[in-house]
Amino acid sequence: MSDKLNIDCCSQPSGLLSVEAARQRILEPINPVTENETLELRHALGRTLAEAVTSSLDVPSYKNSAMDGYALHSRDLPNSGSANLQLIGTSLAGHPYDGSIEPGSAIRIMTGAAVPDDYDTVIMQEQVERSDEIITISSDHCAGENVRYPGEDIKSGDIAGDIGLTIRPAELGLLASLGISDVSVKRRPKVVFFSTGDELREAGDKLEAGQIYDSNRYTLYGMLNKLDVEMEDLGIIPDQPEAIERAFREAGERADIVITSGGVSVGDADYVKQTLEQFGSIDFWKIAMKPGKPLAFGALGKSVFFGLPGNPVSTMATFYQFVIPAIRKLKGETAEKIWTLKVPCHSKLNKRPGRTDFQRGVLQSSADGSLSVHTTGLQGSHVLSSMSKANCFIVLPAESGNIEAGSMVEVQPFESML
Ligand code: AMP
Ligand code: MG
Repeated sequence: MSDKLNIDCCSQPSGLLSVEAARQRILEPINPVTENETLELRHALGRTLAEAVTSSLDVPSYKNSAMDGYALHSRDLPNSGSANLQLIGTSLAGHPYDGSIEPGSAIRIMTGAAVPDDYDTVIMQEQVERSDEIITISSDHCAGENVRYPGEDIKSGDIAGDIGLTIRPAELGLLASLGISDVSVKRRPKVVFFSTGDELREAGDKLEAGQIYDSNRYTLYGMLNKLDVEMEDLGIIPDQPEAIERAFREAGERADIVITSGGVSVGDADYVKQTLEQFGSIDFWKIAMKPGKPLAFGALGKSVFFGLPGNPVSTMATFYQFVIPAIRKLKGETAEKIWTLKVPCHSKLNKRPGRTDFQRGVLQSSADGSLSVHTTGLQGSHVLSSMSKANCFIVLPAESGNIEAGSMVEVQPFESML
């Protein structure tokens, strides 16, 4: 797969592939799923629009009041002093005033209620003196105040949502405001995942000597869940050729993306490699990043294959940097999701030049609203509690060495990625 791409100029002098070059290589062969489905609006939350949505109406659809108060015509506003106007009726939300309108008149009106054609101004009730059916208004008002016009939000014929738009809570409301009850969205990509390793046991089982609990299938489940994909968990696959072969075959048949963890470090890479090469085209990359150096990427049948490193923080870091953009592309999303911030770092950070570090940090704001970050402490790729304490990656460029406290660093807030 990699020989189709000519981006080796981005490789590091060390022979390691840069994070950016790896991301490009991963995204290049991925195409959005082509199948669409029509869903009832609420069920489309988290999905991607497959067809553009054009508004068939103006929102708001009629001239209405932005305030509780009194509607009138601006020609009756006094230039100086005050003016008295005769109240002739009421317009409530859902119950428009339908009487005739005389010069020198006003009506009581509530927020969202229709402003009659012959009026153009609403005065807030707090700015009006009322005595029975007469109101007194001062000269400090402008023609047109507190009136919302049809189409101020969206005009009939406007594109309210383009292909590739992710449907978030605001989009659900926006589409509902257009009266749309069903939408055409991309189908969910299917992700099949499993863990490899003879030492792994399922949470709830008893541990024998030399065994650990599998945590990667849980972090993967959590991250995939937030990406709104269809998931299938094939469990823990032991380090046996036949078992791995069976799992790869099964996964490759029904997934858009297959994700495994473990078995890609130097010790067992050859072994997994052999199995994989029978079924697909897989590259084993050494990426200039920490944590997460080894990564297998390629194709398994019709699916995209990611073999993530087994150390729990490496699994999460490579998932954030590579799998998330891949899934977003597969979902057909067009929005750029990851944003980075430059903030002062209050901790001294140890770093050796050569690889991009994704250290775990806590981004916080102080009373004056300024942001800063500090380290979560021990940074080993086995220290999963560092991810749990963190709310961001502190991204230290490959060439950088140690970071002194007070230096500016780049952070990627987790919330901006998932
Ligand atoms: P590997 O990539 O298989 O050599 O694994 C690297 C390290 O990650 C080893 O310490 C493994 O025990 C650990 N590891 C691999 N898979 C998992 C998993 N699913 N959950 C927790 N730790 C794992
Ligand atoms: Mg292993």
